[in-house]
Order: sequence, then structure tokens, then C-alpha cells
Amino acid sequence: MRRLLLASAALFALAVPAFGQSVDRNQVNRIIDEGTTRSQVMPIAEHLADVIGPRLTNSPQMRQAEAWTMAKFGEWGLKAVHREGFDFGRGWSIERSSVRMVSPRPIQLTAIPIAWTPSTGGTISAPVIVAPIKRERDFDKWRGKLKGKIVMVTLPDTGSEPGEGAFKRYTADELGKLDQYQQPTYAAADRRVKRLDFAKKLDAFLKAEGALAYATQSRSDGKLVHGEGYLFGVGDTPSVPGVEIAAEDYRRLARLAKSGTAPTVEIDTVVHYDDSDRNAYDIIAEIPGTDPKAGYVMAGAHLDSWVAGDGAADNGAGTAMVMEAARIIAATGVRPKRTIRFALWAGEEQGLLGSLAYVENHLATRGNPNDPKQTGLALYMGWSNRWPITPRPGWGDLAAYFNLDNGSGKVRGIYVENNQAVVPTFREWLAPFASMGANNVVIRKTGGTDHVFMQAVGVPGFQFIQDPLDYDSRVHHTSIDTFDHLKGADMRQASIILASFLVNAANAERALPRPPLPTQPVVTDPYAYSDDDE
Ligand SMILES: [Zn+2]
Repeated sequence: MRRLLLASAALFALAVPAFGQSVDRNQVNRIIDEGTTRSQVMPIAEHLADVIGPRLTNSPQMRQAEAWTMAKFGEWGLKAVHREGFDFGRGWSIERSSVRMVSPRPIQLTAIPIAWTPSTGGTISAPVIVAPIKRERDFDKWRGKLKGKIVMVTLPDTGSEPGEGAFKRYTADELGKLDQYQQPTYAAADRRVKRLDFAKKLDAFLKAEGALAYATQSRSDGKLVHGEGYLFGVGDTPSVPGVEIAAEDYRRLARLAKSGTAPTVEIDTVVHYDDSDRNAYDIIAEIPGTDPKAGYVMAGAHLDSWVAGDGAADNGAGTAMVMEAARIIAATGVRPKRTIRFALWAGEEQGLLGSLAYVENHLATRGNPNDPKQTGLALYMGWSNRWPITPRPGWGDLAAYFNLDNGSGKVRGIYVENNQAVVPTFREWLAPFASMGANNVVIRKTGGTDHVFMQAVGVPGFQFIQDPLDYDSRVHHTSIDTFDHLKGADMRQASIILASFLVNAANAERALPRPPLPTQPVVTDPYAYSDDDE
């Protein structure tokens, strides 16, 4: 059934009379040739992941990546290569960290400092206490009991076995399910914002109680750790050292604490803060268009990453594919009608902050200018709920934005993000790549990455459907996000398709249809009650 549907969709695409006019097949051939026989996508990814390493926003390695990517764009002949700064916060990097259980028996634990927490200031050695603290009202239970302890704040869980294979590609059936319209829903307040203050309150509580350090349990089994932390603002960073411990190691400590004398753990962490420049930087580069009045199209991926692994799949892969698309297009010598702009975002992992800064500076602002200015994650969660939207003069110039941030899997199609009107055009643009496995134009809207705030101000922003591989099952944000998990053939294919979409969008007779400028929606379910503890 699904196959029949796909086949008739392909026939329909072939029957469109404009077909062949809107896609320059010779240009497609040039892109495929450049992107296969002279591909640079894997060397780019390898340099980012292996040589530079993880790129936490404002860390020394991110600064290195900013300089290196700009130099590369310059080398390939891109124009207007520059960086655009926005206020972010403190740089933070790990020099070294060791977490060991020393009694009842010595064993090295798999653990990572939580981002933006401080050094231990030498080795600390102390008994652990399992004190699950999830919300403010848990403080009372533990008051007076934490002094001199390493506090295990996560409630230990019982672990889980994997239900399906760790590595997968989409089946036709799964792809078909992505082409189902889902009505948008709207709730007046984002309850996540309430929880944001909790990390700060927990830090203050632990400090006041005289705790030496705290530990959380990794949310993944298999000795994977992540180390995400969000208190990165100047004046906001925590005062108590924190480590995330691998689930198996954490549960062992918890079992021993329950059944006998609390184990003693030794932590020695050296981290560095860097306040020399609190600005983070988006990297921008262009292939100029021949018609200055035609506006521009853009592709983007975030350059920043977490630090447990090397930031290879998230999002060295997307960065490398966007850079490779730029290189391919430049190498083919095409002179597009619209400018093609490339953006490598910073601060994505802390709330899409780099692309948000771009939107605010170039496209539109939201809310009353007298609203209190939100920062960091609160800004991320609150921004889309500020009204009204005020377009900037450049709002109409951005004709289309394409994002890559779903690992290294090959492109299987594109999400039109509820922009129904672009479906026939995207079918034409995708048609040359059916034999490469990319033949699905689906209605579904996606979230969580840098096209979100473009859409939030009515700019046509899109994401490609990528094969999941082992991205969600084990690589995303974890200690094994390394080059080993990147697939070269997939990344070459995705770079080629992105390059082709960009050239088509840049040369299209008319700009892509835009969604209406959003206005404040009504609450979808005004009768719903909420549990504030959630
Ligand atoms: Zn990402």
C-alpha cells in the first residue's frame, strides 16, 4: 500500500509541466560529481571531531573551531565571511577529572563534571549519601544531613535493557507515518520555565548545608555519560562541584549505601572558566547572488556541542555537511540569482541561542520591548510565546532556510514543517535523488533545533529527514559521540542534496511560499488542569 502511494507520488511529480525548468539537471550532475569524486565532508568532520574536539560554546575549542571554519570558507572562495557575536556567558572547559570509589573496594568510576560546575580544588574524599532531591520541597527532608558528604541527588532507577537494535534506517512504513498532519497545540505558559530556577536553588541549598559535591545518575545505561549543565551565565555558575556518574556505577554506589556502610568516593576535578569574552559567535559565509533584490537562501547547522564525546554526530556532521555543500556549490562555479548564505550556529545546546540571535538581529523581534529581557534557557522557552511579532526590514529577504542536525544519516527526504504549499516544488527538487534513497516530502513539523525560531516568525525553515542510525539510541550528547559513528557515504549524499536544494532555492523563479505571519493563538484546551510538580 505504502509503495503504491509513493509510486503515484513520483508519477505526479513527473507530470508537472514545469518540471525540468525549475531544476537545472546539468547543475545537479556537477554537484553530484563534485560531492562524490572530490568530497571533503569526512576530512572536515574528522578535523572538527578529532583535532579540535568537543566545542562547548565559548570554550577554547569552540574559539578554535570558529577560526578554523572561517578560514576554510575563505579558502573555498566564499565571500563576506564573518562572525556575529551575541551575549552568552562564561567559557568553561575540563582540564581533567577523576571519580573513584575508594571503599569498600577501589574502583575507577565513569563520570564527567557537569558543565559549568567548579573544580573540586584538590582531591575530595567523602562518604556518599543517597538523597534524591527533585524539587524544592525535598530540601526539608535532607536539611542537616548533608554536611561533608558527596550527595547523590538522583533517585536511582533499576535500569533497562535495549528493546531494539541500536542502529537503524527508516523503513518505507516509518517514512509514510511522517506524512501525517498533526494539529498544532498551544498552552498559555511553558511549565518548564518554572523548573529552571531549581538548579540554582539546589546549588544554594547544597552549599548552605555544607555538601562537598553532588552527583547525578546518567539517564542512559551502557556507561554513557553526558555532562549537560545550564548555569552558564556570568554570575550564575554553580558553587558546588557536580559530576554525572554512569548509571551502572551510580546504582552500585546506591546499592552499597543501602546494604552497608556508605561507600567513600574520591573526586578530583580541574576545570577552567574563561571570562575574557562573554560573546558567543555565529559564523556566516556567502556565495553572492547576481540579483541584489532577490534576497537570500540559507543553510545552517550548529557548530557547538557538549563535551562528553567529540561533538561528531551532534553536530560536527551537520556542520561538515553544510560546509561541504558550500564548497561544492563554490567549486561548480554556479552564479546563483539569490545569495546563498551559510551559518554555523553557537549556543544551540543551551537553547538555540545563536540562531535566535540571528533571528532577532535580522528577521524579527517578539514581544513588547519593555518586557523583562530573558536570558539563556528561559529565553529559549519563553521566546516563542512573546507577542506581537515585529518583522525587521530584512524579514522578507530570507527566502528559505535549511537545517541539518540529526546526526550523520543520509537524507531520506524533507519535512515541509506544515508548509503544505511547498510540497510540489520540493517533490521536483528531490526527484533526481530518488535513486539515492531520498524521495519523501512529508508534512511533519520538527522541533528542537535551529530552524525553530525562523518558523516562529513566519520564515520558511525546513529540516531534512535523515536516517537515525545510532544517533538517538547511543550517540546523541554522549561520551561516544565520536567520528567512529559517522557514515561517509551518508554524509556525501546529504551534502549533495543540500547543495542541490540550495541552488534550486537560490535560482527559483519565485521565492518559496511563506506561512502566514504567526499571531497569538488561542489556548487549545482551556479546560485542562495541570500538575505543577510535573
Ligand atoms: Zn544538535
